[in-house]
Amino acid sequence: MPRSIRVTIFCEHNQDRREPVKSVYPDGIHGALAAAFPEDESFAVTIATQDMPEHGLTEEVLSNTDTLVWWSHLDNPIFDDAVAKRVCRHVVGRGMGFLVLHSSTFSKPWQWIMGIAYDAGLWGRFRTMPKGEKERLWLVNPGHPIADGIGPYVEIPRDEMYGEPMLIPEPDQTIFLGWWEGGEANRAGCVFFRGRGKIFMFTPGHEAFPIFYQPEIQKILRNAARYLAPSETINPGVFSGQYLDNTPLEDLSHRK
Ligand code: ZN
Repeated sequence: MPRSIRVTIFCEHNQDRREPVKSVYPDGIHGALAAAFPEDESFAVTIATQDMPEHGLTEEVLSNTDTLVWWSHLDNPIFDDAVAKRVCRHVVGRGMGFLVLHSSTFSKPWQWIMGIAYDAGLWGRFRTMPKGEKERLWLVNPGHPIADGIGPYVEIPRDEMYGEPMLIPEPDQTIFLGWWEGGEANRAGCVFFRGRGKIFMFTPGHEAFPIFYQPEIQKILRNAARYLAPSETINPGVFSGQYLDNTPLEDLSHRK
């Protein structure tokens, strides 16, 4: 039995409260995501939504999270800066895994960690088209743990097209390339290492289509949550706002 992974699922829980998204995700997008992490496969799930105090992402919740799974869209701009900063600290400083889904590429923690800035409503963003094109997720790194049990490609009947250039930093690892019915392509599944943290950007998951129910997608999410989780013996260094010890390793008393 693999070790238990503590997964926190953050969902802004806005569009899934009403139609047309409500019929697709009657239990919320977070409900479908939670179903991907069953307890009998050694996952312990906590749900956080944007309407909760501190968006459900208190210091205590984050301290007890191995991997944070994130879905957000319309409410990215009104997400609290202090909570976003806390998420960044846990990823970069403590090694908490961060799984960034679809329009979460417009979220504050992702953009701040990546050092990028674009707004869903402004030009300068990457190409998108929400018509619901067929997408083929080609596996380009079949030896990667996130790809375990996945075939040569995963076909998604309908998704919002995300095109290149994605305006992301050069990924440390590219696992999936997206091919689109309308002729576009994109880097759809990429790993980034930042500080102690591992981050997986996975672009499928437009709210109007039942993508998070697909078994292969759920398998990728599980693989990713395990891969992104910090090892149990990771050196957390100094965390929670203190300074690092600056005692010299060698005798520096001759330096004035
Ligand atoms: Zn979308």
